[in-house]
Amino acid sequence: MRVAVVGAGLGGLTAAHAIRRFAGERGRALELEVWDANDRPGGQLFSVREDGFVVEWAANAFRTGVGPTADLLARLGLQAEQVHADPAANRRYVFHGGRLHLLPSDPISLLNFAPMSPEGRLRVLAEPFLTHRVGDEESVFDYAARHIGPEAAEVLLGTMVRGIYGGDARKLSVDAAFPIMREMERDHGSLVVAGLAGMQKRMRERKTTWSFRGGMRTLVDRLAEELGDALRLDTAAAVLSAEAAGGFRLRAADGDERPFDAVVLALHPAAAAGLVAPLDTEAARELAGIPNAPIGMVAMAFARDALRTPPDGFGFLVAPSEDLRVLGILIESNVFPGRAPDGTVLVRAIMGGVDDPGFDDRSDADIEAIALDAVDRAWGLATAPLRTWVGRQGRGIPQYVIGHHARLARIEGRLARFGGLHLAGNAYRGIAVGKLVDDAEVVASAVWGAAAAG
Ligand SMILES: Cc1cc2nc3c(=O)[nH]c(=O)nc-3n(C[C@H](O)[C@H](O)[C@H](O)COP(=O)(O)OP(=O)(O)OC[C@H]3O[C@@H](n4cnc5c(N)ncnc54)[C@H](O)[C@@H]3O)c2cc1C
Repeated sequence: MRVAVVGAGLGGLTAAHAIRRFAGERGRALELEVWDANDRPGGQLFSVREDGFVVEWAANAFRTGVGPTADLLARLGLQAEQVHADPAANRRYVFHGGRLHLLPSDPISLLNFAPMSPEGRLRVLAEPFLTHRVGDEESVFDYAARHIGPEAAEVLLGTMVRGIYGGDARKLSVDAAFPIMREMERDHGSLVVAGLAGMQKRMRERKTTWSFRGGMRTLVDRLAEELGDALRLDTAAAVLSAEAAGGFRLRAADGDERPFDAVVLALHPAAAAGLVAPLDTEAARELAGIPNAPIGMVAMAFARDALRTPPDGFGFLVAPSEDLRVLGILIESNVFPGRAPDGTVLVRAIMGGVDDPGFDDRSDADIEAIALDAVDRAWGLATAPLRTWVGRQGRGIPQYVIGHHARLARIEGRLARFGGLHLAGNAYRGIAVGKLVDDAEVVASAVWGAAAAG
Protein backbone atom coordinates (compact mmCIF):
# COMPACT_ATOMS: atom_id res chain seq x y z
CA MET A 1 0.00 0.00 0.00
CA ARG A 2 1.22 3.52 -0.81
CA VAL A 3 0.59 5.92 2.07
CA ALA A 4 1.34 9.64 2.29
CA VAL A 5 1.44 11.48 5.60
CA VAL A 6 1.27 15.22 4.97
CA GLY A 7 2.84 17.18 7.82
CA ALA A 8 5.82 16.07 9.91
CA GLY A 9 4.89 17.68 13.18
CA LEU A 10 4.62 15.30 16.12
CA GLY A 11 1.17 14.18 14.93
CA GLY A 12 2.44 13.24 11.47
CA LEU A 13 5.72 11.70 12.65
CA THR A 14 4.06 9.47 15.24
CA ALA A 15 1.28 8.49 12.81
CA ALA A 16 3.87 7.56 10.16
CA HIS A 17 5.82 5.55 12.70
CA ALA A 18 2.71 3.64 13.81
CA ILE A 19 1.59 3.02 10.20
CA ARG A 20 4.98 1.48 9.43
CA ARG A 21 4.94 -0.62 12.60
CA PHE A 22 1.44 -1.93 11.83
CA ALA A 23 2.63 -2.90 8.30
CA GLY A 24 5.50 -4.91 9.82
CA GLU A 25 3.20 -6.60 12.35
CA ARG A 26 0.69 -7.51 9.62
CA GLY A 27 3.35 -8.54 7.10
CA ARG A 28 1.99 -5.96 4.63
CA ALA A 29 4.04 -4.15 1.99
CA LEU A 30 4.18 -0.39 2.53
CA GLU A 31 5.52 2.50 0.47
CA LEU A 32 5.47 5.44 2.87
CA GLU A 33 6.16 9.11 2.23
CA VAL A 34 6.02 11.89 4.80
CA TRP A 35 5.91 15.40 3.36
CA ASP A 36 6.55 18.61 5.23
CA ALA A 37 6.64 22.14 3.85
CA ASN A 38 9.33 23.14 6.34
CA ASP A 39 13.09 22.46 6.10
CA ARG A 40 13.08 20.64 9.46
CA PRO A 41 10.71 18.08 10.98
CA GLY A 42 8.75 18.62 14.20
CA GLY A 43 6.47 21.54 13.30
CA GLN A 44 5.71 23.36 16.56
CA LEU A 45 7.92 21.01 18.55
CA PHE A 46 11.48 22.33 18.43
CA SER A 47 14.32 22.84 20.91
CA VAL A 48 17.17 25.30 20.48
CA ARG A 49 20.43 24.26 22.12
CA GLU A 50 22.73 27.26 22.56
CA ASP A 51 25.47 28.24 25.02
CA GLY A 52 24.43 25.53 27.50
CA PHE A 53 20.70 26.46 27.36
CA VAL A 54 17.96 24.18 26.04
CA VAL A 55 15.04 26.35 24.91
CA GLU A 56 11.75 24.78 23.90
CA TRP A 57 9.49 26.33 21.25
CA ALA A 58 6.34 24.37 22.23
CA ALA A 59 5.96 21.43 24.67
CA ASN A 60 8.70 21.28 27.30
CA ALA A 61 7.49 17.98 28.73
CA PHE A 62 5.09 15.08 28.39
CA ARG A 63 3.35 12.81 30.85
CA THR A 64 3.77 9.08 30.65
CA GLY A 65 3.44 5.94 32.71
CA VAL A 66 2.41 2.64 31.20
CA GLY A 67 0.99 2.94 27.68
CA PRO A 68 1.67 3.99 24.09
CA THR A 69 4.10 6.82 24.88
CA ALA A 70 6.30 4.60 27.07
CA ASP A 71 6.08 1.84 24.43
CA LEU A 72 7.10 4.26 21.67
CA LEU A 73 10.10 5.54 23.64
CA ALA A 74 11.19 1.97 24.31
CA ARG A 75 10.92 1.08 20.62
CA LEU A 76 12.92 4.18 19.71
CA GLY A 77 15.57 3.33 22.32
CA LEU A 78 15.16 6.72 23.98
CA GLN A 79 14.86 5.70 27.64
CA ALA A 80 18.47 6.62 28.37
CA GLU A 81 17.77 10.13 27.05
CA GLN A 82 14.69 10.64 29.26
CA VAL A 83 14.87 13.03 32.20
CA HIS A 84 12.31 13.19 34.96
CA ALA A 85 10.86 16.50 36.15
CA ASP A 86 12.29 17.57 39.50
CA PRO A 87 9.68 16.72 42.20
CA ALA A 88 10.28 20.17 43.73
CA ALA A 89 8.73 21.58 40.57
CA ASN A 90 5.35 20.18 41.63
CA ARG A 91 4.78 23.52 43.33
CA ARG A 92 2.69 25.66 40.97
CA TYR A 93 1.54 29.22 41.45
CA VAL A 94 -1.21 31.47 40.20
CA PHE A 95 -0.75 35.21 39.64
CA HIS A 96 -3.82 36.86 41.15
CA GLY A 97 -4.40 40.27 42.73
CA GLY A 98 -0.96 41.40 41.59
CA ARG A 99 1.06 38.66 43.28
CA LEU A 100 1.85 34.93 43.28
CA HIS A 101 -0.14 32.40 45.34
CA LEU A 102 0.71 28.72 45.73
CA LEU A 103 -2.01 26.65 44.07
CA PRO A 104 -3.83 24.45 46.60
CA SER A 105 -3.00 20.75 46.46
CA ASP A 106 -5.36 19.50 49.22
CA PRO A 107 -8.42 20.68 51.24
CA ILE A 108 -6.28 22.33 53.96
CA SER A 109 -4.25 24.41 51.52
CA LEU A 110 -7.49 25.30 49.73
CA LEU A 111 -8.88 26.77 52.98
CA ASN A 112 -5.91 29.17 53.00
CA PHE A 113 -6.06 30.04 49.30
CA ALA A 114 -6.33 33.85 49.34
CA PRO A 115 -7.42 34.46 45.71
CA MET A 116 -10.84 33.02 46.64
CA SER A 117 -13.33 34.30 49.20
CA PRO A 118 -13.99 32.13 52.31
CA GLU A 119 -17.45 31.32 50.87
CA GLY A 120 -15.89 30.29 47.54
CA ARG A 121 -13.42 27.99 49.30
CA LEU A 122 -16.15 26.36 51.40
CA ARG A 123 -18.26 25.93 48.28
CA VAL A 124 -15.48 23.76 46.79
CA LEU A 125 -15.44 21.55 49.88
CA ALA A 126 -19.26 21.29 49.87
CA GLU A 127 -19.16 19.89 46.33
CA PRO A 128 -20.00 16.26 47.20
CA PHE A 129 -23.31 17.42 48.73
CA LEU A 130 -24.36 19.92 46.08
CA THR A 131 -23.38 18.37 42.78
CA HIS A 132 -25.69 16.75 40.27
CA ARG A 133 -24.91 14.99 37.02
CA VAL A 134 -25.62 16.52 33.63
CA GLY A 135 -25.63 14.35 30.54
CA ASP A 136 -25.25 17.01 27.85
CA GLU A 137 -22.05 18.56 26.57
CA GLU A 138 -21.16 21.71 28.50
CA SER A 139 -18.39 24.27 28.75
CA VAL A 140 -15.45 23.78 31.12
CA PHE A 141 -16.74 26.76 33.11
CA ASP A 142 -20.32 25.45 33.43
CA TYR A 143 -19.07 22.01 34.39
CA ALA A 144 -16.69 23.42 37.01
CA ALA A 145 -19.25 25.93 38.36
CA ARG A 146 -21.76 23.09 38.82
CA HIS A 147 -19.19 21.12 40.79
CA ILE A 148 -17.06 23.58 42.73
CA GLY A 149 -18.95 26.88 42.38
CA PRO A 150 -18.54 29.81 39.96
CA GLU A 151 -15.71 31.46 41.87
CA ALA A 152 -13.46 28.40 41.82
CA ALA A 153 -14.49 27.76 38.22
CA GLU A 154 -13.21 31.22 37.32
CA VAL A 155 -10.05 31.31 39.42
CA LEU A 156 -8.91 27.67 39.18
CA LEU A 157 -10.33 26.27 35.93
CA GLY A 158 -10.36 29.58 34.04
CA THR A 159 -6.67 29.96 34.81
CA MET A 160 -5.85 26.38 33.85
CA VAL A 161 -7.68 26.65 30.51
CA ARG A 162 -5.74 29.80 29.65
CA GLY A 163 -2.50 28.05 30.61
CA ILE A 164 -3.07 24.90 28.57
CA TYR A 165 -5.11 26.06 25.56
CA GLY A 166 -4.66 29.83 25.64
CA GLY A 167 -8.43 29.50 25.67
CA ASP A 168 -11.66 30.60 27.32
CA ALA A 169 -13.23 28.20 29.85
CA ARG A 170 -16.68 29.51 28.90
CA LYS A 171 -16.20 28.42 25.29
CA LEU A 172 -14.19 25.18 25.47
CA SER A 173 -16.08 21.91 25.75
CA VAL A 174 -15.23 19.92 28.87
CA ASP A 175 -16.07 16.73 26.96
CA ALA A 176 -13.60 17.46 24.15
CA ALA A 177 -10.89 19.45 25.95
CA PHE A 178 -10.80 17.64 29.32
CA PRO A 179 -12.48 14.23 28.93
CA ILE A 180 -10.77 13.11 32.17
CA MET A 181 -13.09 15.46 34.08
CA ARG A 182 -16.15 13.78 32.62
CA GLU A 183 -14.65 10.41 33.59
CA MET A 184 -14.15 11.59 37.17
CA GLU A 185 -17.77 12.68 37.30
CA ARG A 186 -18.99 9.43 35.80
CA ASP A 187 -16.90 7.25 38.13
CA HIS A 188 -17.21 9.22 41.37
CA GLY A 189 -20.05 11.73 40.97
CA SER A 190 -18.01 14.40 42.73
CA LEU A 191 -14.59 15.80 41.85
CA VAL A 192 -13.74 16.16 45.53
CA VAL A 193 -14.69 12.54 46.17
CA ALA A 194 -12.65 11.51 43.13
CA GLY A 195 -9.72 13.36 44.67
CA LEU A 196 -10.27 11.88 48.11
CA ALA A 197 -10.67 8.42 46.63
CA GLY A 198 -7.09 8.82 45.59
CA MET A 199 -7.84 8.88 41.90
CA GLN A 200 -5.62 11.85 41.20
CA LYS A 201 -2.90 10.42 43.38
CA ARG A 202 -3.02 7.12 41.56
CA MET A 203 -2.98 8.94 38.25
CA ARG A 204 0.02 10.96 39.37
CA GLU A 205 1.79 7.79 40.41
CA ARG A 206 1.04 6.10 37.13
CA LYS A 207 1.84 9.07 34.93
CA THR A 208 4.72 11.38 35.67
CA THR A 209 6.31 14.29 33.83
CA TRP A 210 9.29 13.70 31.57
CA SER A 211 11.40 15.28 28.90
CA PHE A 212 14.75 14.48 27.26
CA ARG A 213 18.23 15.61 28.14
CA GLY A 214 18.48 17.56 24.88
CA GLY A 215 14.87 18.75 24.95
CA MET A 216 11.79 17.56 23.07
CA ARG A 217 13.64 17.78 19.76
CA THR A 218 15.32 14.52 20.74
CA LEU A 219 12.03 12.73 20.10
CA VAL A 220 11.45 14.53 16.79
CA ASP A 221 14.99 13.84 15.56
CA ARG A 222 14.77 10.16 16.48
CA LEU A 223 11.38 9.73 14.76
CA ALA A 224 12.74 11.51 11.68
CA GLU A 225 15.87 9.34 11.71
CA GLU A 226 13.69 6.21 11.77
CA LEU A 227 11.77 7.43 8.75
CA GLY A 228 15.00 7.86 6.76
CA ASP A 229 14.36 8.58 3.06
CA ALA A 230 10.58 8.37 3.57
CA LEU A 231 10.74 11.88 5.06
CA ARG A 232 10.66 14.59 2.40
CA LEU A 233 11.30 18.07 3.79
CA ASP A 234 10.77 21.31 1.82
CA THR A 235 7.86 19.49 0.19
CA ALA A 236 4.58 21.36 0.59
CA ALA A 237 1.46 19.52 -0.54
CA ALA A 238 -0.35 21.89 -2.91
CA VAL A 239 -3.18 19.86 -4.48
CA LEU A 240 -4.99 16.71 -3.38
CA SER A 241 -7.31 14.94 -5.80
CA ALA A 242 -9.30 11.71 -5.65
CA GLU A 243 -8.87 9.15 -8.45
CA ALA A 244 -12.01 7.82 -10.10
CA ALA A 245 -10.82 4.24 -9.53
CA GLY A 246 -10.02 4.90 -5.85
CA GLY A 247 -6.95 6.34 -4.19
CA PHE A 248 -5.51 9.83 -4.40
CA ARG A 249 -2.97 12.00 -6.16
CA LEU A 250 -0.90 14.53 -4.27
CA ARG A 251 0.88 17.35 -6.04
CA ALA A 252 3.72 19.15 -4.32
CA ALA A 253 4.26 22.90 -4.69
CA ASP A 254 7.26 22.15 -6.97
CA GLY A 255 4.94 20.25 -9.35
CA ASP A 256 6.02 16.71 -8.38
CA GLU A 257 2.92 14.47 -8.38
CA ARG A 258 2.47 11.01 -6.79
CA PRO A 259 -0.36 8.46 -6.46
CA PHE A 260 -1.29 7.09 -3.01
CA ASP A 261 -3.81 4.56 -1.73
CA ALA A 262 -4.21 6.43 1.56
CA VAL A 263 -3.44 9.99 2.69
CA VAL A 264 -3.13 11.19 6.28
CA LEU A 265 -3.49 14.96 6.66
CA ALA A 266 -1.47 15.82 9.77
CA LEU A 267 -1.70 19.57 9.24
CA HIS A 268 -3.28 22.51 10.93
CA PRO A 269 -7.01 22.29 10.05
CA ALA A 270 -6.91 25.48 7.94
CA ALA A 271 -4.17 23.89 5.79
CA ALA A 272 -6.07 20.58 5.68
CA ALA A 273 -9.17 22.53 4.58
CA GLY A 274 -7.25 23.96 1.62
CA LEU A 275 -6.32 20.47 0.43
CA VAL A 276 -9.75 18.95 1.07
CA ALA A 277 -11.74 21.79 -0.58
CA PRO A 278 -11.61 20.43 -4.18
CA LEU A 279 -12.89 17.07 -2.88
CA ASP A 280 -15.59 18.24 -0.47
CA THR A 281 -16.35 21.90 0.15
CA GLU A 282 -18.50 21.15 3.20
CA ALA A 283 -15.75 19.15 4.94
CA ALA A 284 -13.32 21.96 4.09
CA ARG A 285 -15.70 24.55 5.55
CA GLU A 286 -16.01 22.53 8.77
CA LEU A 287 -12.23 22.08 9.03
CA ALA A 288 -11.65 25.79 8.51
CA GLY A 289 -14.20 26.46 11.26
CA ILE A 290 -12.05 24.89 14.00
CA PRO A 291 -10.84 27.99 15.87
CA ASN A 292 -7.31 28.50 17.09
CA ALA A 293 -5.53 30.76 19.56
CA PRO A 294 -2.32 32.54 18.50
CA ILE A 295 0.60 31.53 20.72
CA GLY A 296 4.17 32.68 21.16
CA MET A 297 6.88 32.51 23.74
CA VAL A 298 9.81 34.48 25.08
CA ALA A 299 12.56 32.49 26.80
CA MET A 300 14.79 34.53 29.10
CA ALA A 301 18.12 33.59 30.67
CA PHE A 302 19.04 35.46 33.85
CA ALA A 303 22.01 35.48 36.17
CA ARG A 304 20.71 33.88 39.39
CA ASP A 305 20.90 37.17 41.32
CA ALA A 306 19.05 39.13 38.61
CA LEU A 307 15.70 38.14 40.14
CA ARG A 308 14.96 39.67 43.56
CA THR A 309 12.84 36.67 44.67
CA PRO A 310 14.22 33.29 43.60
CA PRO A 311 11.60 31.72 41.26
CA ASP A 312 10.13 28.67 42.97
CA GLY A 313 8.60 25.48 41.59
CA PHE A 314 7.17 24.89 38.12
CA GLY A 315 6.17 28.49 37.49
CA PHE A 316 2.88 30.31 37.44
CA LEU A 317 -0.31 30.75 35.46
CA VAL A 318 -2.13 34.04 35.25
CA ALA A 319 -5.76 34.31 36.39
CA PRO A 320 -8.14 35.62 33.68
CA SER A 321 -8.90 38.73 35.78
CA GLU A 322 -5.28 39.97 35.77
CA ASP A 323 -3.75 42.61 33.47
CA LEU A 324 -0.45 40.70 33.07
CA ARG A 325 -0.31 40.00 29.34
CA VAL A 326 1.26 36.55 29.55
CA LEU A 327 -0.64 33.28 29.97
CA GLY A 328 1.99 31.92 32.30
CA ILE A 329 5.71 31.59 32.95
CA LEU A 330 7.54 28.27 33.25
CA ILE A 331 10.78 28.06 35.21
CA GLU A 332 12.46 25.68 32.81
CA SER A 333 15.68 25.30 34.80
CA ASN A 334 13.71 24.30 37.94
CA VAL A 335 11.59 21.70 36.14
CA PHE A 336 14.51 20.07 34.33
CA PRO A 337 17.86 20.93 35.91
CA GLY A 338 20.42 20.88 33.11
CA ARG A 339 18.45 23.28 30.92
CA ALA A 340 20.71 26.18 31.91
CA PRO A 341 24.37 26.58 32.96
CA ASP A 342 25.19 26.83 36.69
CA GLY A 343 24.50 30.23 38.17
CA THR A 344 21.74 31.03 35.67
CA VAL A 345 17.96 30.67 35.53
CA LEU A 346 15.99 29.92 32.37
CA VAL A 347 12.32 30.97 32.32
CA ARG A 348 9.83 30.95 29.44
CA ALA A 349 6.79 33.19 29.14
CA ILE A 350 3.92 31.78 27.07
CA MET A 351 1.84 34.52 25.45
CA GLY A 352 -1.08 35.18 23.14
CA GLY A 353 -4.28 33.17 23.50
CA VAL A 354 -7.86 33.97 22.55
CA ASP A 355 -7.84 37.09 24.75
CA ASP A 356 -5.02 38.57 22.63
CA PRO A 357 -6.18 38.14 19.01
CA GLY A 358 -3.72 40.81 17.82
CA PHE A 359 -0.76 38.87 19.20
CA ASP A 360 0.61 37.90 15.76
CA ASP A 361 0.92 41.59 14.81
CA ARG A 362 3.05 42.51 17.83
CA SER A 363 6.76 43.09 17.19
CA ASP A 364 9.39 40.90 18.84
CA ALA A 365 10.49 43.90 20.91
CA ASP A 366 6.92 44.40 22.09
CA ILE A 367 6.38 40.81 23.22
CA GLU A 368 9.81 40.73 24.86
CA ALA A 369 8.86 43.85 26.85
CA ILE A 370 5.59 42.18 27.93
CA ALA A 371 7.50 39.09 29.10
CA LEU A 372 10.04 41.14 31.07
CA ASP A 373 7.26 43.16 32.69
CA ALA A 374 5.64 39.88 33.83
CA VAL A 375 8.94 38.64 35.28
CA ASP A 376 9.44 41.94 37.05
CA ARG A 377 5.96 41.92 38.59
CA ALA A 378 6.24 38.29 39.70
CA TRP A 379 9.77 38.15 41.09
CA GLY A 380 11.31 41.63 40.77
CA LEU A 381 13.93 42.27 38.11
CA ALA A 382 17.26 43.67 39.34
CA THR A 383 19.20 43.43 36.06
CA ALA A 384 18.46 42.74 32.41
CA PRO A 385 18.44 39.16 31.05
CA LEU A 386 21.67 37.67 29.76
CA ARG A 387 19.83 36.82 26.58
CA THR A 388 16.37 36.12 25.20
CA TRP A 389 14.76 33.98 22.47
CA VAL A 390 11.45 34.87 20.84
CA GLY A 391 9.39 32.11 19.23
CA ARG A 392 6.01 32.25 17.51
CA GLN A 393 3.64 29.43 16.69
CA GLY A 394 1.82 30.92 13.74
CA ARG A 395 -1.06 28.47 13.81
CA GLY A 396 -1.24 28.47 17.60
CA ILE A 397 -3.36 26.04 19.58
CA PRO A 398 -6.66 24.61 18.26
CA GLN A 399 -9.69 25.37 20.44
CA TYR A 400 -11.98 22.45 21.23
CA VAL A 401 -15.08 24.61 21.61
CA ILE A 402 -18.61 23.38 22.39
CA GLY A 403 -19.70 21.19 19.48
CA HIS A 404 -16.15 20.00 18.69
CA HIS A 405 -16.99 16.28 18.82
CA ALA A 406 -20.08 16.77 16.66
CA ARG A 407 -18.11 18.81 14.13
CA LEU A 408 -15.38 16.17 14.00
CA ALA A 409 -17.96 13.41 13.47
CA ARG A 410 -19.45 15.40 10.56
CA ILE A 411 -16.01 15.93 8.99
CA GLU A 412 -15.01 12.29 9.40
CA GLY A 413 -18.38 11.16 8.01
CA ARG A 414 -17.81 13.20 4.86
CA LEU A 415 -14.16 12.16 4.42
CA ALA A 416 -15.05 8.48 4.93
CA ARG A 417 -16.84 8.55 1.56
CA PHE A 418 -13.41 8.79 -0.09
CA GLY A 419 -11.99 5.70 1.66
CA GLY A 420 -8.39 6.20 2.75
CA LEU A 421 -8.40 9.88 3.76
CA HIS A 422 -7.54 10.44 7.44
CA LEU A 423 -6.86 13.31 9.85
CA ALA A 424 -4.08 13.45 12.43
CA GLY A 425 -2.49 16.12 14.62
CA ASN A 426 -3.52 18.27 17.53
CA ALA A 427 -6.74 19.76 16.12
CA TYR A 428 -8.99 16.76 16.62
CA ARG A 429 -8.58 14.32 19.52
CA GLY A 430 -6.09 15.90 21.92
CA ILE A 431 -3.34 18.53 21.89
CA ALA A 432 -0.81 17.07 24.36
CA VAL A 433 2.22 15.07 23.27
CA GLY A 434 0.91 11.89 24.92
CA LYS A 435 -2.49 12.34 23.24
CA LEU A 436 -0.82 12.63 19.83
CA VAL A 437 1.05 9.38 20.46
CA ASP A 438 -2.21 7.67 21.51
CA ASP A 439 -3.95 9.09 18.46
CA ALA A 440 -1.23 7.81 16.11
CA GLU A 441 -2.33 4.28 17.02
CA VAL A 442 -5.94 5.17 16.17
CA VAL A 443 -4.88 6.70 12.84
CA ALA A 444 -2.69 3.70 11.91
CA SER A 445 -5.55 1.34 12.75
CA ALA A 446 -7.88 3.37 10.54
CA VAL A 447 -5.36 3.37 7.67
CA TRP A 448 -4.91 -0.41 7.80
CA GLY A 449 -8.57 -1.02 8.64
CA ALA A 450 -9.63 0.91 5.54
CA ALA A 451 -7.03 -1.01 3.53
CA ALA A 452 -8.43 -4.35 4.74
CA ALA A 453 -11.97 -3.20 3.92
CA GLY A 454 -10.85 -2.11 0.44
C1 LIG B 1 3.73 27.10 23.34
C2 LIG B 1 3.25 25.68 23.40
C3 LIG B 1 3.49 24.93 24.54
C4 LIG B 1 3.06 23.59 24.61
N1 LIG B 1 3.34 22.87 25.74
C5 LIG B 1 3.00 21.57 25.79
C6 LIG B 1 3.39 20.77 26.91
O1 LIG B 1 4.06 21.24 27.82
N2 LIG B 1 3.04 19.47 26.92
C7 LIG B 1 2.35 18.88 25.88
O2 LIG B 1 2.06 17.67 25.95
N3 LIG B 1 1.99 19.61 24.79
C8 LIG B 1 2.30 20.93 24.72
N4 LIG B 1 2.00 21.66 23.60
C9 LIG B 1 1.26 21.01 22.50
C10 LIG B 1 2.14 20.25 21.48
O3 LIG B 1 3.46 20.75 21.45
C11 LIG B 1 1.50 20.41 20.09
O4 LIG B 1 0.13 20.05 20.17
C12 LIG B 1 2.16 19.53 19.02
O5 LIG B 1 3.56 19.74 18.96
C13 LIG B 1 1.51 19.85 17.66
O6 LIG B 1 1.88 18.88 16.71
P1 LIG B 1 1.08 18.70 15.34
O7 LIG B 1 1.80 17.66 14.56
O8 LIG B 1 -0.35 18.48 15.61
O9 LIG B 1 1.12 20.10 14.59
P2 LIG B 1 2.35 20.94 14.00
O10 LIG B 1 3.53 20.83 14.88
O11 LIG B 1 1.80 22.29 13.71
O12 LIG B 1 2.71 20.20 12.61
C14 LIG B 1 2.08 20.46 11.39
C15 LIG B 1 3.12 20.33 10.28
O13 LIG B 1 2.47 20.49 9.01
C16 LIG B 1 3.37 21.12 8.14
N5 LIG B 1 2.63 21.68 6.99
C17 LIG B 1 1.74 22.70 6.97
N6 LIG B 1 1.22 22.87 5.73
C18 LIG B 1 1.79 21.91 4.95
C19 LIG B 1 1.63 21.52 3.57
N7 LIG B 1 0.79 22.14 2.74
N8 LIG B 1 2.38 20.46 3.10
C20 LIG B 1 3.23 19.79 3.92
N9 LIG B 1 3.41 20.12 5.24
C21 LIG B 1 2.69 21.16 5.74
C22 LIG B 1 4.04 22.17 9.02
O14 LIG B 1 5.28 22.59 8.45
C23 LIG B 1 4.22 21.39 10.33
O15 LIG B 1 5.49 20.76 10.39
C24 LIG B 1 2.39 23.00 23.51
C25 LIG B 1 2.15 23.77 22.35
C26 LIG B 1 2.56 25.08 22.29
C27 LIG B 1 2.33 25.88 21.03
